[in-house]
Amino acid sequence: MGDSRRRFLKELSGLGAAAWAAPLLSGAGGAAAQTAEPGKKLGFALVGLGSLSGNQIAPALFQRTKLCRLAGLVSGHPDKAREWAKRYAVPEKNIYDYANFDQIRDNPDIDVVYVVLPNSMHAEYTIRAARAGKHVLCEKPMAVSVKECDEMIAACKAAGRQLAIGYRLHFEPNNLEMARLARERVLGAVKVIEASAGFRIGDPAQWRLNKALSGGGSLLDIGIYALQAARYIAGEEPTSVSAQVSITDPVKFKPGVDESVLFRLQFPGGAVANCSSSYATGLNRFWAGAEGGWFEVNPALNYTGIKGRLSGPQGPRDFGLPAVDHFAAEMDAFSDCILNERPTTVPGEEGRRDQRIMAAIYESAEKGSTIAL
Ligand code: NAD
Repeated sequence: MGDSRRRFLKELSGLGAAAWAAPLLSGAGGAAAQTAEPGKKLGFALVGLGSLSGNQIAPALFQRTKLCRLAGLVSGHPDKAREWAKRYAVPEKNIYDYANFDQIRDNPDIDVVYVVLPNSMHAEYTIRAARAGKHVLCEKPMAVSVKECDEMIAACKAAGRQLAIGYRLHFEPNNLEMARLARERVLGAVKVIEASAGFRIGDPAQWRLNKALSGGGSLLDIGIYALQAARYIAGEEPTSVSAQVSITDPVKFKPGVDESVLFRLQFPGGAVANCSSSYATGLNRFWAGAEGGWFEVNPALNYTGIKGRLSGPQGPRDFGLPAVDHFAAEMDAFSDCILNERPTTVPGEEGRRDQRIMAAIYESAEKGSTIAL
């Protein structure tokens, strides 16, 4: 058994996957407040009962989280909410709609609001949840502008509540191992990073292709994973970016909604990252070329089946790390931070960093020039 696997299993035996989740990048969270009695699982309310909530988050909260549970539902569809309430044993009194959502303030069953809505709705519901005195876990991308990120951070700070962004790969062992191999220079300093994330998008009528709801195209939705990977492998912030946007189907991809984006990030330590984001094809690989070899995750961002490997004298070998439920790990890690009054490792400030760089990526593509960050 390799060192990393031994360390992983040892730490996993403590408090589930949450306990070992080390920060991939620096950043402080907002002030935390103890909201639960010892031994009590924190209550999460889901805002937005779409595919991510239904296929991943609710089942994880119902069956796999150790420190939190599904306690509330917020939906514009009362029948759906009632059906979910039955399935997940959520009391009907803990169902809200978008109009009466603010009354969640008076509900002691709810400690954390998890915002799982279209991107342009993240800011409003994060701010309303914070004003209602709840901690907030907000899906990626954090928002659709840096200004919104600032408002979200300020609202949570003013309420004395924590804000975390749903960067599930910060709790995935293979991605953590990529960051560790780079940080500890196991194969020497990383010089070149290649990070690609994409999928072929279907229904042209979906909100992801509507700028007013998505705030952008593939970059904000899936390319953000490539940006994240570049940043956590480099272990520092990029100093400049250059980018091109490609649209081959102008009927499907309207102005402001990119189809594919290629972007290059320069890091102060000398590493360069070549990144691709696409709604036109499947892309799923993070690769790091170091002085003494390479390491990669491929597939890199699936919910299951992520596989890491690194080069060696006898040929490439697998990281050999066990699989975890990303969402259970992410939610338990956040709950652990709230319960123990520690800042989250994925605070709003981390989401804001990505938002700022993504704005610069679009600016570079539009102007056809390199943008200093
Ligand atoms: P979805 O379309 O399946 O669900 C969106 C939900 O929002 C639905 O319940 C819908 O009824 C509700 N909604 C409220 N107002 C709406 C409006 N005006 N238009 C459309 N829907 C509206 O989307 P999803 O795939 O669940 O994505 C939700 C969020 O989660 C997005 O921000 C997305 O980026 C993020 N996400 C993250 C991951 C991840 O791996 N972390 C994966 C998928 C999605």
